[in-house]
Amino acid sequence: MVLKMEDIKVIGIVGAGVMGHGIAQVAARTGYDVILVDISEDVLKKALEMIESGPFGLKRLVEKGKMTEEEARECMNRIKTSTSLESLKDADFVIEAVTENADLKKKIFAQLDKICKPEAIIASNTSAIMISDLATAVERKDKFIGMHWFNPAPVMKLIEVIRGALTSDETFNLTVELSKKFGKIPIEAGDGPGFFTTRFINSWLVEAVRLFEIGIGGIKEIDEMCKLAFGFPMGPFELMDLIGLDTALHIAEYLYDETSERHYAPPVTLKKLVMSGYIGRKPGSRGGWYDFYGIER
Ligand code: NAD
Repeated sequence: MVLKMEDIKVIGIVGAGVMGHGIAQVAARTGYDVILVDISEDVLKKALEMIESGPFGLKRLVEKGKMTEEEARECMNRIKTSTSLESLKDADFVIEAVTENADLKKKIFAQLDKICKPEAIIASNTSAIMISDLATAVERKDKFIGMHWFNPAPVMKLIEVIRGALTSDETFNLTVELSKKFGKIPIEAGDGPGFFTTRFINSWLVEAVRLFEIGIGGIKEIDEMCKLAFGFPMGPFELMDLIGLDTALHIAEYLYDETSERHYAPPVTLKKLVMSGYIGRKPGSRGGWYDFYGIER
């Protein structure tokens, strides 16, 4: 059976962290029943709190007059949480948003492939891992696809849609349609390490660090130049502080490992800061670029 838009009633989400809870909020707000799965009860509890009253949560939307209190309550009621993948047996469309680790993701996909209905579609929110690679974990390769959201999920408009080599046209079209129903703008990118967005942003970030290393500009100056010259909302060093220097390093290492292209390789200074505990604005971090170099913001 080939799934159609009208058949989609239940959206399953695996991983209730930064991305998973935001995606759950969008799906529930669109009117879908949502089953949100994580290994940690604490994460699930926090996810529901964030959906209800986080900075991009439903309370804020009520305050801004974008939905009524009644609608927010109904939205919360549509979200069920679970620590078991088995609870996704009736899901029509499953979006995976667990930690960026290929082995972990593949283990989950192999389980989902057995648990989910044969017609269900499985999508990955991976930022960089090739979809054709992740698809090796499932039999239903035609119903497996990349659906790359951006943070914060309730706010950011783009969904980068990536077909694996064996993704069917039906799965691709349905994912595009569903993305639109979520109020997003889906754009197709080809399957390769980092797709378009992650590969592009990495080039920009590592180039900024290299230009700093050879003395072309200071950290604050490069951030300011990017904002003033190009109208970017944030400079590259500010962005790394936000997403985490560890995440920036991980992406650069992955892209370099996969492509062997020098210009993706992580700069030494980025490595040095991460190794010294400067991983950006994250719990347990010593700080980010501005803190390490003692620069006033
Ligand atoms: P996160 O660390 O906030 O959340 C990951 C969650 O996965 C955690 O809550 C963890 O408990 C859960 N998890 C781990 N193993 C699990 C398992 N076996 N079963 C169920 N849940 C499990 O990470 P995140 O930032 O939300 O990223 C998730 C995915 O989204 C990654 O692939 C990442 O690359 C991608 N992504 C992240 C961003 C971003 O800005 N954070 C943007 C786009 C895409």
